[in-house]
Amino acid sequence: MHLPGPFDIVRVVEMEGAFRAPEFLFPEATEEAVRASKVATDPRFYNAETHKLVMSFHTLVIKTPRHNILVDTCIGNDKERPELLDWHQRTGPFLADLATAGVPAESIDFVLCTHLHADHVGWNTKLFDGRWVPTFPNAKYLMARTEVEHWNEVRKTSDKPANHRSWDDSVQPILDAGQALVIDSDYEIEHGIHLIPAPGHTPGNVILHVSDGKERAYLIGDTIHHPLQIEHPDWSSSFCSDPNLSRVTRKEFLNTVAETDSLVMPAHFGTPTAVRITGDSTGYNFETVEKS
Ligand SMILES: [Zn+2]
Repeated sequence: MHLPGPFDIVRVVEMEGAFRAPEFLFPEATEEAVRASKVATDPRFYNAETHKLVMSFHTLVIKTPRHNILVDTCIGNDKERPELLDWHQRTGPFLADLATAGVPAESIDFVLCTHLHADHVGWNTKLFDGRWVPTFPNAKYLMARTEVEHWNEVRKTSDKPANHRSWDDSVQPILDAGQALVIDSDYEIEHGIHLIPAPGHTPGNVILHVSDGKERAYLIGDTIHHPLQIEHPDWSSSFCSDPNLSRVTRKEFLNTVAETDSLVMPAHFGTPTAVRITGDSTGYNFETVEKS
């Protein structure tokens, strides 16, 4: 589907549905607080019968006159993720869906991973002849230096496998192929399209700012995981490296975009994905925006 906003932004979904209880993702959430939220009345984001969050795992491709820029590469096929069965050895049609959406893998000039969690790097690579090879043969893969250095250190020093071992199958092969561009967290891809540091969810987490001079969108990865965090910006996720910093970053971001025309496009908001933020620091809310 096409999202509203600057340029043509194409969303390709790998997986969407009611997956997890809110308390799994947000340690501070209670069932009572969730059921009292506005989001709880919206079946696009919350399944009241099962008390589960509806989430999407999708890629967004910005088609500018100069480049096709693909943001976040979801979970991927054939990856060994035995701890999470819906991510384990998938065989989904994501690559065919990209092609059908008019943005085949060969057409991608840049891949941006907003951070290096397993559900944002999966399609960096695909299995070919028993080896992990870059899925996007003509792309430079942009990864923030802080993020690369952090996870490289964690994987070397931690006794538990970090990020479901996704470094080995989805990051290292990109570095080995010479297709990674390890960049500063304010890197500009082209005029109007640049990164903004958004640390907390992970140390090198970034937001992509996209403007064509008329309209503005922010592709924010997991800076806000789920619409519940717009009503409850204090709720950081169980997967945030630094929950306090994540909270500060989220509130600063909400303050920047609230009551503006800016579109916000998170990595896991269900269809239609794009929202505008309303309200102020005494209480934020949102409206969904679809392409007219
Ligand atoms: Zn994620």
